[in-house]
Amino acid sequence: MSLKLYNTLSRRKETFVPLNDKQVGIYVCGPTVYNFFHIGNARPFLIFEVLRRYLEFKKYKVKYVTNFTDIDDKVINKANEMGLLFSEVADKYIREYFQDADCLNIGRADVYPRATEHISDIIKFIQGLERKGYTYAVDGDVFFDVNQFKDYGKLSKQNLDEIKVGARIELDERKRNPYDFVLWKKAKAGEPFWNSPWGEGRPGWHIECSVMSEKYLGESFDIHAGGSDLVFPHHENEIAQSEALSGKQFAKYWLHNGFLKIENQKMSKSLGNILTVRDLCKRYQGSVIRHFLLSAHYRSPLNYSIEQIEQSKNSMETLNNLIYNIHFLLQQNDFSLEIDSESEGLLLKNEEIIKNFIQAMDDDLNTPVALSTLFLLAKETNRYLSSKGLKNKDVLQSVLDFYDQYGDGVLGLKYLSETQEQGQISEKEIQEMIRKREVARENKDWKTADEIRQQLKEKGIILEDTAKGVRPKKV
Ligand code: AMP
Ligand code: ZN
Repeated sequence: MSLKLYNTLSRRKETFVPLNDKQVGIYVCGPTVYNFFHIGNARPFLIFEVLRRYLEFKKYKVKYVTNFTDIDDKVINKANEMGLLFSEVADKYIREYFQDADCLNIGRADVYPRATEHISDIIKFIQGLERKGYTYAVDGDVFFDVNQFKDYGKLSKQNLDEIKVGARIELDERKRNPYDFVLWKKAKAGEPFWNSPWGEGRPGWHIECSVMSEKYLGESFDIHAGGSDLVFPHHENEIAQSEALSGKQFAKYWLHNGFLKIENQKMSKSLGNILTVRDLCKRYQGSVIRHFLLSAHYRSPLNYSIEQIEQSKNSMETLNNLIYNIHFLLQQNDFSLEIDSESEGLLLKNEEIIKNFIQAMDDDLNTPVALSTLFLLAKETNRYLSSKGLKNKDVLQSVLDFYDQYGDGVLGLKYLSETQEQGQISEKEIQEMIRKREVARENKDWKTADEIRQQLKEKGIILEDTAKGVRPKKV
């Protein structure tokens, strides 16, 4: 089975064929570091990291690069507001980024290039474009001349004459064409600047990604990704700059995620409904948020609501409880080595579910369907566990392996069975209460024994009396 990815460049799903068999290069546009990132931003950070996990599961070697935009108007404004240097603001929010990425279990990229650490590469790149006749300079600003690049508009499928004035197009009378964009920006008084052949200034918005992707992945690489708002003009402009300079195809596959809304509204400062990952991580375990973010296909819109995230919380609890219950049986040697027909049935089901998981992920990373397979196996396994008789060790282990390899390994979901959630009863406490109940029962103190059973029940644990003694079960 082969992986298919929807390529914005062709507007269809294409079979993924890497450019070479050494490594798959992925470049994802990262955050502008002037604030905590919100759960909308988390969508691309997370889904493209899942893409990496899945490619690695398929035995590809991946090099994953994601940048930090550490200089732009927003970073400068924030620095002025806070009375800090722009670099201090950037350093702070890069640190905060990693804290929140860790909450969501977003694995590390191989390289995190920063725009300001690549100024000389950026200048050389612009000089290359200048030599080829793609630029013009006006009063210390350098523009890219889109009329010189015949493929301009190929990603956003727009014709130069028809492109409507959209977001993030800066109107400027000095431009030859309104879609020309700035490669190098003259510094205003009091702004940070670097020296360049065009005077003191700083890089424009788009150039850093062209320069840094080329530096770490080469002129042509496999996958370039980001949120759908970046298709135009950011990615269109990246293609123009990079292909104008190299004369080669820039990225082969372009992937874009849909937007996240809150209670069906756009997330925006003016509506006061920006939800940061930092805040949400105070209320929910990272895997619950991760489950929620993966619960819609990455290209579809996703709506955040309390009901939705609570549903994800319940879903994760189902998995946590199941895994806890299986671990418990295995730890207590409470299993059989015989295979009966029910065990065989679950093994077969497990294999079928693995196939369905892979089929879903192969289909342009269909994470909602992949997630549903995790719950289908949970349902089947719970049925198996509640049937009479000892359970087969290999079957129990194969269920754990599935959650380990697919739920955790590919989708990055961490279960709480090993690491207890804060505020939840610990394994030690459960065992201690069971022991006290046993003592009470030996002393025929039925009242205390019942009270303990009731206390455990209130914490979601029921006690089952089995031939091997009392067994706690999370429900
Ligand atoms: P920024 O820091 O604004 O450059 O955004 C970082 C990434 O988050 C980009 O790939 C954006 O396209 C993406 N993004 C921003 N807002 C949302 C949203 N509400 N839903 C999904 N992705 C978003
Ligand atoms: Zn970018």
